This record gives sequence, C-alpha cells and structure tokens, in this order.
Amino acid sequence: MSDNLLLGMDRAEFASLVENAGGPAYRARQLMDAVYRARVESVEQISTLPQQFRMSLQSAGVMVGLPQIEKKFVSQDGTIRYLIGFPDGQSVETVWMPQGDGGEAGDGSAAGDAAAGNAARGWDRATICVSSQVGCAVDCQFCLTALLGAKRNLSAGEIVGQVCAVLRDQNVAPPQDRINLVFMGMGEPFLNYDNFMKAVRLLVEEVRIAESRMTVSTAGIVPRIYDLGREPIRPKLAISLNATNDELRTRLMPLNRKWNLEMLLAAAKAYPLRNREYVTFEYVLLGGVNDEPENAREAAELLRGLRCKVNLIALNPGPGIDFTTPAEERVAAFQKILREAGVPAFVRRPRGRDIYAACGQLKRTVEIGAAPEPQPR
Ligand code: SAH
Repeated sequence: MSDNLLLGMDRAEFASLVENAGGPAYRARQLMDAVYRARVESVEQISTLPQQFRMSLQSAGVMVGLPQIEKKFVSQDGTIRYLIGFPDGQSVETVWMPQGDGGEAGDGSAAGDAAAGNAARGWDRATICVSSQVGCAVDCQFCLTALLGAKRNLSAGEIVGQVCAVLRDQNVAPPQDRINLVFMGMGEPFLNYDNFMKAVRLLVEEVRIAESRMTVSTAGIVPRIYDLGREPIRPKLAISLNATNDELRTRLMPLNRKWNLEMLLAAAKAYPLRNREYVTFEYVLLGGVNDEPENAREAAELLRGLRCKVNLIALNPGPGIDFTTPAEERVAAFQKILREAGVPAFVRRPRGRDIYAACGQLKRTVEIGAAPEPQPR
C-alpha cells in the first residue's frame, strides 16, 4: 500500500496528512467526507477544499486511489460482475446483486428485512460481494479462485475502494439505500486480517454501512475466528463447513489438516454472538461426494447446540473443477434432514452463473482465456 492514497486512510492518518500539508485540522473531515461519502475520483474533484490546498496535496503526490472498473459483465438475473483493476496491473472481481443474494432473507437480521427501499429501481436492497485478496492460498478443490493461486493481499483502501467504485457506478448511497456486504469474493479474508478489519471499520464508520449488514466468510482460519469475536466492530460470521468428517474435509479443503473440524467447531461454539445473531455455515453440495443423507445427519449432529443456520450451495461448476452439481431433489432432501433435526437450512440460489459470477466462480475471465458463454435460463 502506498501512503499517498487517501482511500484506506483512517481518521488519524487523515489528521497527520493535513498537518503535514499545513492545513487547518478541519480539512481532515472534509477530505474523509469527499473520499468515503461523496466518493470522488480525484483530489481535483474535492470542491469543498480551496484550490490552493488541492494543489499542495497534488504536488505532494496525494491521490484518491479509487480503483478502476475495467470490465462489467451483466447477467440475465441482474447480477453484475465487475473486474476491478489496481495500478500494479492486478485485478479482482466484485459482484453487485440487486435484491440480495437470497441467503439473508427471512433470517430476522437487518440484512434480510423487508423494505420500501428502492422499488423504483427494481430492488429494495442490494448485496455487494467483495474480494479480500488477489487469488487465494487456501486451495479448496471445488473453487475456481483457488486455481489462480495466491497473488497478493489487498490493502484496506483496495477493499473499501471496490465498494466505493460499485456504489459510484450504481449511483447509490448508504445508509439511505440498503446495501449489504458479503466478504465472500476472491481470497480468504482471515489471511489478510488486519487490512480486512481496517476496511470494515472504514465501511461502517465512514461509508455508513451497518455492521449488521455485513458478513465475512472464512474457510476456517481458526485463530482469527477468536480474534474476530473480540473486535468492537465486526461483521457477522460465516464458516465454510463443506464436509462433516475430517477425512473428507481435508480432501476438499486442505487447510483442514491444520485446523480440523473439532478445532473449527470449538471456535464456533466459543464465538460471542450478539443479540439476534447466528453463525452461518456454508455447505457446498458436491454430487455423490458430500450430499448423502448420511452427511446431512452428520452435519446436524456436529451443529447441535450451536445458534446457527446452514446455507446450502449446489456446486457452481467451472473449467478445471472435477465435481458435479447435485440434482435439485438431492439438495432439497439434504435441507429437509437438517430442518427436521432442528437446524435452520436455506438453499442459496446461484446468482449470475451465466457470467461466472456465482460462488467459487470468480476468476479473471482474461485468465480463463475467453468470455463466459451465456447459458440458457
Ligand atoms: N475464502 C472464504 C470466502 C470466499 S468463498 C471462504 O472460503 O469462506 C465463499 C463461499 O463460496 C464459500 O462458502 C465456498 O465454500 C463457496 N464456494 C467456493 N467454490 C464454490 C463453487 N464452485 N460452487 C459453490 N460454492 C462455492
């Protein structure tokens, strides 16, 4: 991260920037509002500042650092996949899902509430799926991002910047517009914990998206689950479970060798839930691999006594992924077993599958070598 980019700076960093530039202290607030609320693209656009001060910032090399929208893919279901680029040539994907992602509906949280909202635009809430790293080191066998390998962490500014770029492109503004965030894009947020948490604080305090409208998903970096529980400002927690015994989970998610199911579930049980809060467990269903009725019974057993819900995701297929998507009846049967055992279970409908925007499909189209083929339906 470079120290002349405004996006990603917190209050203290803005204050020292202004002090070094010889401006009065209140310029810090003006700068923060311009960057995080007005979401300007350049210092030149900050019309609340005197021309003189803008010029002195510019001559010191200060820039906003809003990332570039390089490409936009629009799905038949309204989902938009953004390819967002950074000055070093790396890029990530950020997904806009009008009307939410289906995973939050009916769960009693702020993220899922009914709203008068933005009906004129055809949605009353929208969810942005945010990336935390370029590529990923975790190597889950069913995930396309894993095929990229680990490239680098995103800075806090690059994480917040994805949100600002999409809000700007969609011409929406929280908190008036109901925007939910899911940190479920490319990368493992808990392997980039400090930058990720700094971004969360800026998104809550400056961009004004409530923490109750944010969910972070981890593949299971157990020590960071304990850390998250101690944060004064924190998103809701989701954990990618994906298997119900260690042998299978290690095969699907090699990190299970380091943090096995017992350690993972102990962390989930110790996690300090707030009022009305649940831990969400994600379970990607792979045909003939982890979708047997027996697996559903094992999952219910593992999760017994936890205040949680399960989001079932039928595999989103992709090139290089050697698993199959189970039939709808298999998914429904799995859900039924969980529910009958008293575990709230929801089936996530895939969003933007035709543009490779669905879970696990985020991968630079340029690296696939071709634009995805639109699929029927
Ligand atoms: N690294 C984090 C967040 C990104 S993945 C994590 O692992 O939780 C977000 C969710 O998508 C995870 O629950 C993951 O298990 C799921 N996922 C990955 N690949 C998928 C695929 N091909 N089909 C369906 N879901 C997938």
